[in-house]
Amino acid sequence: MSRIIVAGAGHGGLSAAAKLSAAGHSVTVFEKGKEEEIGHDWQDRFTFSILSDTLGIQETQLQDTIWNYRGDCAFISPSKNKRIAINYNDEERQKIMWRKPLLRMLKDHAKACGTEFRFETPVLAPVISGRRITGIATEDREIEADLVIDAAGVFSPLRTKLPKYFFIEPQPSRGDIFYAYRAYYKKTIDIIPEYPFEIYLRHNGDQGLSWFYTDDNAVDILIGRIDPLSQSGIDALIGQFRTEHPWFNDEIIHGGQNAYIPVRRPLTLMVADGYAAIGDSAFMTTPMNGMGIDLSLLAGDLLADTVLHAKTDHFTADVLWEYNRDFHMLYGYAAAKNAGLKNALLSLPSQGVDFLFEQDVIQASDLSGAGKNTNLVSLFGKLARGLHNPPYFAAVLKGLLQGSKASGLYQTPPLCYDLQQIQKWDQKIRSLDIVVPKL
Ligand SMILES: Cc1cc2nc3c(=O)[nH]c(=O)nc-3n(C[C@H](O)[C@H](O)[C@H](O)COP(=O)(O)OP(=O)(O)OC[C@H]3O[C@@H](n4cnc5c(N)ncnc54)[C@H](O)[C@@H]3O)c2cc1C
Repeated sequence: MSRIIVAGAGHGGLSAAAKLSAAGHSVTVFEKGKEEEIGHDWQDRFTFSILSDTLGIQETQLQDTIWNYRGDCAFISPSKNKRIAINYNDEERQKIMWRKPLLRMLKDHAKACGTEFRFETPVLAPVISGRRITGIATEDREIEADLVIDAAGVFSPLRTKLPKYFFIEPQPSRGDIFYAYRAYYKKTIDIIPEYPFEIYLRHNGDQGLSWFYTDDNAVDILIGRIDPLSQSGIDALIGQFRTEHPWFNDEIIHGGQNAYIPVRRPLTLMVADGYAAIGDSAFMTTPMNGMGIDLSLLAGDLLADTVLHAKTDHFTADVLWEYNRDFHMLYGYAAAKNAGLKNALLSLPSQGVDFLFEQDVIQASDLSGAGKNTNLVSLFGKLARGLHNPPYFAAVLKGLLQGSKASGLYQTPPLCYDLQQIQKWDQKIRSLDIVVPKL
């Protein structure tokens, strides 16, 4: 039986904790928040079937009050002159769930499997001894473990404080995360627009996006930018939305918080002796839409499998590399592909994005699949349309090609944990990154 610490009671941490506890390991989750407060106060989309695939929680167990279908969607160009509408059929319609009940369910499941919890106990730093992570430091003590699972989010105090010799990227770069504000405002008029879910790309010319979703009782507003948001900027945007959609007042009924969303390719290297990062702390989202719940649940499950196969309580980087490698081969490669397109779009001036909308270079299939549906055949059609303005088209093509090459490299990571080989592999991937300029 190994002593395993999980930092952060998010989706990834809880999915790993449940499986490892059920197999007899001694798992303790350290969470900075209060037990009754874990999870964001809003609804998000993810693949519900992953709950049954990874945790055995069946969809039929989900109460009707905690989830819903989201309405049809329209992507809006920066000039607002062109909309790309997406009408979902019954099979494809997006399902969204309130985060707090989702996290409560994951936490209760982990508890039932035997996981221990320390709430209101922030993890402050890793404890390192002889180039191995041997535990965590909290405010009043250090706690030893055979394995520390870092599931403490984008700015995890574990990952960001690891010494350089572990070669794990500590900080995201500009363009790697969205600074987000999200709030549900009370509706004052009984209205549901034809496309209730509006997504504004390069909203107001800013690098990022906003969404405005009208549901039965409220409007759900998200503002996501690659530079930090100011309160006056948020207030101005909410005011602008209210002028354009005069059916909500200023009463916030859910959310009203700032948060971070990783929108980059996952960490190439995310393990070290005694340490593995999962979820947002390893930047595991789909960059074009910031979805990370699926990937963090899947990563938690994969990491638990690696630990269970290991049949040792000496969790070296060699042992944990299996998880790192398998994650990239199964999921990381798709996120890496997607990051190229996202960075290319963020690098274009607003007129460039308008051009892509107006010439149908960007189409519903690209947007509904967050860039995943773009294939060679559709590229030829785009080529013909995009040639009206080669520089803008070339920028997008570069994003797709660089993303594709990076994706290929994520699919072929070094077979074993060999730091020199990993550094070479990582350098090749980095050389394909598209740096997002300040516009
Ligand atoms: C506005 C917004 C909208 C989003 N929409 C979607 C969506 O529609 N679909 C989707 O799939 N994803 C969405 N995401 C992304 C999604 O929230 C994350 O990718 C996902 O939550 C990652 O899960 P995780 O397991 O990494 O842990 P997280 O959910 O990030 O949880 C980390 C936990 O660690 C705790 N913690 C942090 N620091 C410490 C510390 N020092 N010590 C102890 N505990 C700590 C936190 O309190 C938290 O409980 C959205 C994110 C935001 C901000």
